Amino acid sequence: MDKIIDVTGGQGGKAFLLIGEEKTALVDCGMAYCAPTLISNIKQVLGRRTLDYILISHSHYDHIGAIPYLREEWPNLKVLGAEYAKGILNRENALKDIRNLSVLAAKFYGAGDIKEYGDDMLKVDNNIFDGDSLDLGGVIIKVIEAQGHTKCSLSFLVNNETLFASESTGYKSKSGKVYPAFITSCSQAIDSINRSREINPRFIISPHFGLVNQSDTLNYWEECILAVKETKDFILRLSEKGYEEEQILIEYEEAFRDEESRLEQPSNAFRLNAQSMIKTVLNEGK
Ligand SMILES: [Zn+2]
Repeated sequence: MDKIIDVTGGQGGKAFLLIGEEKTALVDCGMAYCAPTLISNIKQVLGRRTLDYILISHSHYDHIGAIPYLREEWPNLKVLGAEYAKGILNRENALKDIRNLSVLAAKFYGAGDIKEYGDDMLKVDNNIFDGDSLDLGGVIIKVIEAQGHTKCSLSFLVNNETLFASESTGYKSKSGKVYPAFITSCSQAIDSINRSREINPRFIISPHFGLVNQSDTLNYWEECILAVKETKDFILRLSEKGYEEEQILIEYEEAFRDEESRLEQPSNAFRLNAQSMIKTVLNEGK
Protein backbone atom coordinates (compact mmCIF):
# COMPACT_ATOMS: atom_id res chain seq x y z
CA MET A 1 0.00 0.00 0.00
CA ASP A 2 2.93 2.42 0.51
CA LYS A 3 3.34 2.65 -3.26
CA ILE A 4 -0.26 3.78 -3.73
CA ILE A 5 -0.87 7.44 -2.98
CA ASP A 6 -4.15 9.34 -2.96
CA VAL A 7 -3.60 12.44 -5.12
CA THR A 8 -7.28 13.36 -5.54
CA GLY A 9 -7.69 16.90 -6.84
CA GLY A 10 -11.25 17.62 -5.75
CA GLN A 11 -14.50 16.23 -4.37
CA GLY A 12 -16.13 13.48 -6.38
CA GLY A 13 -13.02 12.77 -8.45
CA LYS A 14 -10.77 10.23 -6.78
CA ALA A 15 -7.30 9.61 -8.25
CA PHE A 16 -4.49 7.37 -7.04
CA LEU A 17 -0.85 7.43 -8.03
CA LEU A 18 1.12 4.18 -8.22
CA ILE A 19 4.87 4.47 -7.90
CA GLY A 20 6.96 1.70 -9.43
CA GLU A 21 10.73 1.51 -9.51
CA GLU A 22 10.68 2.15 -13.26
CA LYS A 23 7.31 3.60 -14.17
CA THR A 24 4.46 5.55 -12.63
CA ALA A 25 0.72 5.32 -13.23
CA LEU A 26 -2.42 7.11 -12.21
CA VAL A 27 -5.64 5.15 -11.64
CA ASP A 28 -8.46 7.46 -12.80
CA CYS A 29 -8.01 11.21 -12.58
CA GLY A 30 -11.30 12.77 -11.58
CA MET A 31 -13.17 15.61 -13.19
CA ALA A 32 -11.86 18.42 -15.36
CA TYR A 33 -12.15 20.94 -12.54
CA CYS A 34 -9.90 18.74 -10.34
CA ALA A 35 -6.93 19.12 -12.72
CA PRO A 36 -4.98 22.03 -11.16
CA THR A 37 -4.90 20.55 -7.64
CA LEU A 38 -4.44 17.04 -9.01
CA ILE A 39 -1.38 18.06 -11.05
CA SER A 40 0.16 19.86 -8.13
CA ASN A 41 -0.44 16.83 -5.85
CA ILE A 42 1.15 14.51 -8.42
CA LYS A 43 4.17 16.77 -8.89
CA GLN A 44 4.75 16.85 -5.16
CA VAL A 45 5.04 13.08 -5.11
CA LEU A 46 6.88 12.59 -8.40
CA GLY A 47 9.48 15.31 -8.06
CA ARG A 48 11.56 15.01 -11.22
CA ARG A 49 9.98 11.78 -12.38
CA THR A 50 7.37 11.73 -15.10
CA LEU A 51 3.84 10.33 -15.23
CA ASP A 52 3.90 7.37 -17.62
CA TYR A 53 0.34 6.00 -17.63
CA ILE A 54 -3.24 6.79 -16.77
CA LEU A 55 -5.38 3.70 -16.30
CA ILE A 56 -9.06 4.47 -16.62
CA SER A 57 -11.64 2.35 -14.81
CA HIS A 58 -14.29 3.46 -17.33
CA SER A 59 -15.14 6.34 -19.64
CA HIS A 60 -17.40 8.49 -17.43
CA TYR A 61 -16.57 12.20 -17.15
CA ASP A 62 -15.99 12.06 -13.39
CA HIS A 63 -13.15 9.54 -13.86
CA ILE A 64 -11.45 10.91 -16.96
CA GLY A 65 -12.26 14.63 -17.19
CA ALA A 66 -8.77 15.77 -16.16
CA ILE A 67 -6.95 13.73 -18.85
CA PRO A 68 -6.43 16.64 -21.33
CA TYR A 69 -4.70 18.75 -18.69
CA LEU A 70 -2.51 15.86 -17.52
CA ARG A 71 -1.50 15.27 -21.13
CA GLU A 72 -0.57 18.91 -21.45
CA GLU A 73 1.66 18.56 -18.40
CA TRP A 74 3.18 15.18 -19.35
CA PRO A 75 2.91 14.92 -23.16
CA ASN A 76 4.43 11.43 -23.32
CA LEU A 77 1.96 9.74 -21.01
CA LYS A 78 -0.24 6.94 -22.35
CA VAL A 79 -3.89 6.52 -21.45
CA LEU A 80 -4.84 2.86 -21.07
CA GLY A 81 -8.44 1.64 -21.08
CA ALA A 82 -10.85 -0.99 -22.33
CA GLU A 83 -11.49 -1.33 -26.05
CA TYR A 84 -15.07 -0.15 -25.58
CA ALA A 85 -13.85 3.00 -23.81
CA LYS A 86 -11.59 3.76 -26.74
CA GLY A 87 -14.62 3.55 -29.04
CA ILE A 88 -16.74 5.81 -26.81
CA LEU A 89 -14.06 8.49 -26.70
CA ASN A 90 -14.05 8.59 -30.49
CA ARG A 91 -17.72 9.52 -30.60
CA GLU A 92 -18.60 13.16 -31.06
CA ASN A 93 -21.77 12.89 -28.96
CA ALA A 94 -20.01 11.25 -26.05
CA LEU A 95 -17.31 13.91 -26.11
CA LYS A 96 -19.95 16.62 -26.10
CA ASP A 97 -21.75 15.01 -23.12
CA ILE A 98 -18.47 14.73 -21.22
CA ARG A 99 -17.72 18.40 -21.83
CA ASN A 100 -21.20 19.49 -20.69
CA LEU A 101 -21.09 17.35 -17.55
CA SER A 102 -17.57 18.62 -16.78
CA VAL A 103 -18.77 22.22 -17.00
CA LEU A 104 -21.83 21.53 -14.80
CA ALA A 105 -19.72 19.69 -12.21
CA ALA A 106 -17.21 22.55 -12.04
CA LYS A 107 -20.11 24.87 -11.17
CA PHE A 108 -21.62 22.36 -8.70
CA TYR A 109 -18.32 22.09 -6.84
CA GLY A 110 -17.78 25.86 -6.91
CA ALA A 111 -14.78 25.84 -9.23
CA GLY A 112 -16.11 28.23 -11.89
CA ASP A 113 -15.19 27.66 -15.52
CA ILE A 114 -12.95 24.90 -16.81
CA LYS A 115 -9.96 25.60 -19.03
CA GLU A 116 -10.46 24.98 -22.77
CA TYR A 117 -9.18 21.69 -24.16
CA GLY A 118 -9.25 19.88 -27.48
CA ASP A 119 -11.42 16.76 -27.73
CA ASP A 120 -8.49 14.89 -29.29
CA MET A 121 -6.70 15.13 -25.93
CA LEU A 122 -9.42 12.97 -24.39
CA LYS A 123 -8.71 9.56 -25.87
CA VAL A 124 -7.51 6.09 -25.00
CA ASP A 125 -4.05 5.49 -26.49
CA ASN A 126 -3.74 1.76 -25.84
CA ASN A 127 -6.26 -0.94 -25.03
CA ILE A 128 -5.92 -3.18 -22.03
CA PHE A 129 -7.75 -6.47 -21.68
CA ASP A 130 -8.89 -8.85 -18.95
CA GLY A 131 -5.88 -10.73 -17.60
CA ASP A 132 -3.30 -8.20 -18.81
CA SER A 133 -0.52 -7.29 -16.42
CA LEU A 134 1.40 -4.04 -16.29
CA ASP A 135 4.70 -4.07 -14.41
CA LEU A 136 5.82 -0.67 -13.12
CA GLY A 137 8.82 -2.22 -11.39
CA GLY A 138 7.89 -3.77 -8.06
CA VAL A 139 4.29 -2.73 -8.65
CA ILE A 140 2.28 -5.10 -10.80
CA ILE A 141 -1.19 -4.12 -11.94
CA LYS A 142 -3.55 -6.85 -13.12
CA VAL A 143 -6.47 -5.83 -15.32
CA ILE A 144 -9.85 -7.39 -14.55
CA GLU A 145 -12.90 -6.85 -16.70
CA ALA A 146 -15.86 -5.90 -14.48
CA GLN A 147 -18.89 -4.81 -16.46
CA GLY A 148 -22.32 -3.76 -15.23
CA HIS A 149 -21.74 -0.06 -14.56
CA THR A 150 -20.63 0.41 -18.16
CA LYS A 151 -19.47 -1.90 -20.93
CA CYS A 152 -15.96 -0.58 -20.48
CA SER A 153 -15.60 -1.04 -16.71
CA LEU A 154 -12.40 -2.47 -15.30
CA SER A 155 -11.03 -3.34 -11.86
CA PHE A 156 -7.31 -3.18 -11.13
CA LEU A 157 -5.55 -5.54 -8.73
CA VAL A 158 -2.22 -4.21 -7.49
CA ASN A 159 0.45 -6.62 -6.23
CA ASN A 160 -2.23 -9.22 -5.62
CA GLU A 161 -3.48 -7.43 -2.52
CA THR A 162 -5.15 -4.11 -3.32
CA LEU A 163 -8.23 -4.02 -5.51
CA PHE A 164 -9.38 -0.85 -7.20
CA ALA A 165 -12.96 -2.05 -7.41
CA SER A 166 -14.83 -1.25 -10.61
CA GLU A 167 -17.84 1.00 -10.10
CA SER A 168 -19.90 -1.95 -11.35
CA THR A 169 -19.56 -3.40 -7.85
CA GLY A 170 -21.06 -0.22 -6.31
CA TYR A 171 -19.49 2.59 -4.32
CA LYS A 172 -19.26 3.53 -0.69
CA SER A 173 -20.53 6.93 0.41
CA LYS A 174 -19.01 8.99 3.21
CA SER A 175 -21.84 7.84 5.47
CA GLY A 176 -20.54 4.30 5.03
CA LYS A 177 -23.49 3.04 3.01
CA VAL A 178 -22.74 1.20 -0.22
CA TYR A 179 -24.74 2.33 -3.25
CA PRO A 180 -25.38 0.27 -6.38
CA ALA A 181 -24.27 1.60 -9.78
CA PHE A 182 -25.32 -0.97 -12.36
CA ILE A 183 -26.15 1.19 -15.32
CA THR A 184 -25.80 -1.28 -18.19
CA SER A 185 -26.44 -4.64 -16.52
CA CYS A 186 -27.62 -5.80 -13.11
CA SER A 187 -26.57 -9.43 -13.64
CA GLN A 188 -23.10 -8.44 -14.83
CA ALA A 189 -22.76 -6.18 -11.80
CA ILE A 190 -23.49 -9.14 -9.55
CA ASP A 191 -20.92 -11.22 -11.48
CA SER A 192 -18.39 -8.43 -10.99
CA ILE A 193 -19.05 -8.38 -7.24
CA ASN A 194 -18.74 -12.16 -6.99
CA ARG A 195 -15.49 -12.15 -8.94
CA SER A 196 -14.09 -9.50 -6.61
CA ARG A 197 -15.16 -11.51 -3.60
CA GLU A 198 -13.32 -14.55 -4.96
CA ILE A 199 -10.15 -12.51 -5.35
CA ASN A 200 -10.60 -11.65 -1.66
CA PRO A 201 -8.21 -8.67 -1.71
CA ARG A 202 -6.59 -7.54 1.52
CA PHE A 203 -7.31 -3.89 0.71
CA ILE A 204 -10.29 -2.49 -1.19
CA ILE A 205 -10.38 0.90 -2.85
CA SER A 206 -14.02 1.79 -3.37
CA PRO A 207 -14.91 4.18 -6.22
CA HIS A 208 -15.49 7.80 -5.10
CA PHE A 209 -14.57 6.79 -1.55
CA GLY A 210 -11.05 5.46 -1.36
CA LEU A 211 -9.54 2.89 0.96
CA VAL A 212 -12.16 0.91 2.84
CA ASN A 213 -11.46 0.55 6.58
CA GLN A 214 -9.88 -2.77 7.44
CA SER A 215 -12.83 -3.58 9.73
CA ASP A 216 -15.32 -3.05 6.88
CA THR A 217 -13.36 -5.06 4.30
CA LEU A 218 -14.72 -8.44 5.37
CA ASN A 219 -18.38 -7.50 4.79
CA TYR A 220 -17.80 -5.17 1.88
CA TRP A 221 -18.81 -7.50 -0.97
CA GLU A 222 -21.88 -8.67 0.91
CA GLU A 223 -22.94 -5.03 1.27
CA CYS A 224 -22.45 -4.54 -2.47
CA ILE A 225 -24.71 -7.50 -3.23
CA LEU A 226 -27.35 -6.26 -0.79
CA ALA A 227 -27.27 -2.79 -2.32
CA VAL A 228 -27.94 -4.19 -5.78
CA LYS A 229 -30.72 -6.44 -4.49
CA GLU A 230 -32.38 -3.65 -2.50
CA THR A 231 -32.59 -1.42 -5.56
CA LYS A 232 -33.60 -4.20 -7.91
CA ASP A 233 -36.39 -5.41 -5.58
CA PHE A 234 -37.61 -1.84 -5.05
CA ILE A 235 -37.96 -1.29 -8.79
CA LEU A 236 -39.55 -4.67 -9.48
CA ARG A 237 -42.06 -4.22 -6.66
CA LEU A 238 -43.28 -0.93 -8.10
CA SER A 239 -43.30 -2.31 -11.61
CA GLU A 240 -45.47 -5.21 -10.46
CA LYS A 241 -47.87 -2.66 -8.95
CA GLY A 242 -48.22 -1.21 -12.44
CA TYR A 243 -45.97 1.86 -12.04
CA GLU A 244 -44.45 3.31 -15.20
CA GLU A 245 -40.76 4.18 -15.49
CA GLU A 246 -41.36 7.86 -14.72
CA GLN A 247 -43.35 7.09 -11.56
CA ILE A 248 -40.72 4.61 -10.40
CA LEU A 249 -38.09 7.31 -10.82
CA ILE A 250 -40.06 9.72 -8.60
CA GLU A 251 -40.48 7.04 -5.91
CA TYR A 252 -36.85 6.04 -6.25
CA GLU A 253 -35.64 9.61 -5.71
CA GLU A 254 -37.91 9.94 -2.70
CA ALA A 255 -36.50 6.78 -1.15
CA PHE A 256 -32.81 6.96 -2.09
CA ARG A 257 -31.88 10.62 -2.61
CA ASP A 258 -30.68 11.16 0.97
CA GLU A 259 -28.68 13.98 2.54
CA GLU A 260 -25.32 12.36 1.75
CA SER A 261 -26.20 11.86 -1.87
CA ARG A 262 -27.27 15.52 -2.15
CA LEU A 263 -23.84 16.63 -0.97
CA GLU A 264 -21.90 14.17 -3.07
CA GLN A 265 -23.67 14.16 -6.42
CA PRO A 266 -25.45 16.76 -8.59
CA SER A 267 -29.13 15.95 -8.99
CA ASN A 268 -28.94 15.52 -12.77
CA ALA A 269 -26.23 12.87 -12.36
CA PHE A 270 -28.23 11.10 -9.64
CA ARG A 271 -31.33 11.12 -11.84
CA LEU A 272 -29.50 9.84 -14.92
CA ASN A 273 -28.02 6.95 -12.94
CA ALA A 274 -31.36 6.10 -11.36
CA GLN A 275 -33.11 6.22 -14.72
CA SER A 276 -30.56 3.82 -16.21
CA MET A 277 -30.84 1.41 -13.29
CA ILE A 278 -34.63 1.40 -13.60
CA LYS A 279 -34.46 0.69 -17.35
CA THR A 280 -31.86 -2.03 -16.78
CA VAL A 281 -33.92 -3.81 -14.13
CA LEU A 282 -37.10 -3.63 -16.20
CA ASN A 283 -35.26 -4.98 -19.27
CA GLU A 284 -33.49 -7.79 -17.47
CA GLY A 285 -36.53 -8.69 -15.33
CA LYS A 286 -36.07 -11.13 -12.47
ZN1 LIG B 1 -19.25 5.95 -13.72
